[in-house]
Amino acid sequence: MRILISNVTYLESAVSQDSLNPVDIGIEDGKISFIQEHLPSRDQKTHLKEAAWDRVIEGRGRLALPGLVNAHTHLGMTLLRGYGDDLPLMVWLQEKMWPIEDQLTEKDVYWSSLLAIGEMLRGGITTCADMYFHMGATAKAVAEAGIRASLTRGVQDVGGSGLRGLEEAIGFCQKWQGAANGRITTMLGAHAPYTCTPGLLRKVADWANRLGVPIHTHVAETSTEVHQIKEQYGVTPLGMLAGNGVLDVPVTAVHCVHLEEDDLELATQRGVRVVHCPGSNMKLGSGIAPLPEMLATGLIVGLGTDSAASNNKLDLWEEMRLASLIHKANMQDATVIPAVTALKMATCHGAAALHLDKVGKLAPGWVADLVLVNTEGLHWQPPSNPQASIVYAGGRNDVSLVMVDGCIVYDQGELLTIDEDEVIYHVKKIAHRLGLL
Ligand SMILES: [Zn+2]
Repeated sequence: MRILISNVTYLESAVSQDSLNPVDIGIEDGKISFIQEHLPSRDQKTHLKEAAWDRVIEGRGRLALPGLVNAHTHLGMTLLRGYGDDLPLMVWLQEKMWPIEDQLTEKDVYWSSLLAIGEMLRGGITTCADMYFHMGATAKAVAEAGIRASLTRGVQDVGGSGLRGLEEAIGFCQKWQGAANGRITTMLGAHAPYTCTPGLLRKVADWANRLGVPIHTHVAETSTEVHQIKEQYGVTPLGMLAGNGVLDVPVTAVHCVHLEEDDLELATQRGVRVVHCPGSNMKLGSGIAPLPEMLATGLIVGLGTDSAASNNKLDLWEEMRLASLIHKANMQDATVIPAVTALKMATCHGAAALHLDKVGKLAPGWVADLVLVNTEGLHWQPPSNPQASIVYAGGRNDVSLVMVDGCIVYDQGELLTIDEDEVIYHVKKIAHRLGLL
């Protein structure tokens, strides 16, 4: 498929503000082939003639952005949106989530995943990272719906399920790594220091090394976790991971709300990639991560929504705004986390946090994952600072077209790869069965 987006303004990588002259963007074989200044006389140039393309999209009034990266969620939990609200993490997990998750079937996770992917694509999210179980069902949904995803079959020792889960996780990586034209990548997942024994962590690290995949894990989400791990092992949660080999392979560490000073140094030394989930951390009352400190040490930090059961939206626009605003308030300093930083976390740094290559930036040779945003609404006027408008004024309803891997998956209000009515029908049916409705 060869697609030309003509006469569009764009932000290359959310870093500079110098690209607001209209450009033409060529997309071929799933990649961006060129970005060049738009000239009214383009028809005279052979490679820009309409006939040379399968589709030409008029980009006037649109801003092209790299697709947003939701670097941490649990797609299978989208069914549980609105179940167990207003509870702290451990009560929420132990009394609400774990008991009902025991009842979820592979089919449930498939429909829940499609529900989540549909919501994310509509909001301009072109890459997500998932950690859950029945991961084959999620991979099938990802392959069908056209999103890019880093998938992890999470393992934990709760109920003695660790080794069986790990075996399944290894098989999952072997089967799905690089599937769907490379849109699917995999990681091994240790759920968290407080749900995994040291022995299981060592096995996960060993297998990640053997398979050549990173590890996705939750770390230091609550102060309760830090107290518990310190009491049990005499080290912080990140220290426990390091002591069991987990930081010897590339790691994506989610939350990091309660990192101590030594942890920051350790994370920086070992090149840990972090995912910040401000909405979920606030809703579960977990605290505020030391994001300004993490960025100051040079850590790469992406943004995640976490699950719809603890957020309750899968909306990266909101996470960008929260990531910027809560730290300004918390530090009493309006200069921290400026808009451009939040935008980088939602795009190129999110992709880097997932160890993905050539994702998260609009540039020749990079994957054609992009979003066209309608900037004609009143709340975008005047268009003096696009980064600030995206983070502080824009929202997911401004997304008008979404492309993943060079394929258009959402256009003018319609999802092209998902039958929304069918998804809603199945989700409601499952919710009835689970007693949620
Ligand atoms: Zn999570």
